[in-house]
Amino acid sequence: MSNQGLLARSLQSVWHPCTQMKQHETFPLIPIQRGEGVWLYDADGQRYLDGISSWWVNLFGHNHPRIKDAIKTQLDKLEHVMLAGFTHEPVVTLSEKLAQLTGLGHAFYASDGASATEIALKMSFHYWRNSGKPNKSKFISLQNSYHGETLGALSVTDVAIFKDTYAPLLMQSAQMPSPDFRLSETGETAEAYALRCAADLENYVSGHHTELAAFIIEPMVQCAGGMAMHHPIYLQRARAICTQYQIHLIADEIAVGFGRTGTMFACEQAHSNPATPVRPELVEGQNRPNKVSDIADFICLSKGITGGYLPLSAVLTTDTVYQAFYDDRTVNGFLHSHSYTGNPLACSAALATLAIFEDEAVLDKNRVTAAYIKEQATCLNDLPIAHCRQQGMILAMDVLGAQPGFAQHCYAEALKQGLLLRPIGNTVYLMPPYSISREEVDYMITSTHQAIRLAL
Ligand SMILES: *Cc1c(COP(=O)(O)O)cnc(C)c1O
Repeated sequence: MSNQGLLARSLQSVWHPCTQMKQHETFPLIPIQRGEGVWLYDADGQRYLDGISSWWVNLFGHNHPRIKDAIKTQLDKLEHVMLAGFTHEPVVTLSEKLAQLTGLGHAFYASDGASATEIALKMSFHYWRNSGKPNKSKFISLQNSYHGETLGALSVTDVAIFKDTYAPLLMQSAQMPSPDFRLSETGETAEAYALRCAADLENYVSGHHTELAAFIIEPMVQCAGGMAMHHPIYLQRARAICTQYQIHLIADEIAVGFGRTGTMFACEQAHSNPATPVRPELVEGQNRPNKVSDIADFICLSKGITGGYLPLSAVLTTDTVYQAFYDDRTVNGFLHSHSYTGNPLACSAALATLAIFEDEAVLDKNRVTAAYIKEQATCLNDLPIAHCRQQGMILAMDVLGAQPGFAQHCYAEALKQGLLLRPIGNTVYLMPPYSISREEVDYMITSTHQAIRLAL
């Protein structure tokens, strides 16, 4: 069927996410038929470079033989079984591997990122209740943070367009100043500014800790909030403050996990300043590698976890948290369930994804790719842009003097160039699959240049 035919049927029957459907009266939907590597192909044979990894989920390109084969092999054995009272090899192996990678040993599964946030919030609250501190029931997050859009997750999210309409439905939470380096004073370093924000955090926590359960944060990059990046010292300080005042730190690595920021998990970078190690006894290079568990009591994972193949999310936590639920009384157990918890097909895709990381030196290759992207991106400097910033396989810049509607225009112009871009306000970002080649990087940057120029 042609693009036109499918488009009309889609508008009749499908309610698309994050979309004012009326805009599609004038603005066409794009029916995609197949994907290959970084490319998406529509029914008319037009192709688009997937510059945002299909909403940050795809890691190694579309139609990846190894992930596909893993799912097919699992499909011949067991497509699904409930995870209450039953277990299976893929979920056990995946949990063991994630424990090894993060230092957090107990994995609870769901199918999407927002549910992972809900699980971490509920688990934290329930931990304190089981520990005789039921007043510790409130949560704090950063200004401009994004943790998903179900009611609990939206309560700790701070993006006005998603939140304001539903505000009457949400629980109260407080937002701490974001360590986003763009907010620093002139002459103030990113590190000094991060420390100033950490002092504000401490100030709030010291006054409210008896009622606080947890602080939830997107480590290193606040993605949906416009790819806002901060100095890793903030994570060190946040950990120390959470320990001192006995509140949990929830690392929402739904977007930044699995190599996106340069390390397997963004929390690992909290050690990048050896002068102020989180745990002095574990100075970098000694003892053992940096672990998520040095920073976080909970980590939320999703998006890239299956390489972009199937919906899956996980919350991993500490022995301490787990033990507080281990009891004869059912009500002290964690009370949460999803029908597709630990789906074997999704777990098999996740295992294939982790195997690719192990076998193909992905993080090393990404360092080379990220450096190449940075080098090529200098050609954007003749455009009116500011704060061109990069963290691993995320490059972002703010377009100056952009008119209202810039994001939409830029998106449309990029599509004409054969590139899928989805600017957030005046922030244009590139977040391609890790498998992108040099020629494809060149294509992506040149098309981005054109799209920004034409959208201004
Ligand atoms: C995408 C995202 C979520 C929500 O994940 P969904 O699968 O879209 O519900 C939560 N937190 C962060 C940081 C995200 O980027």
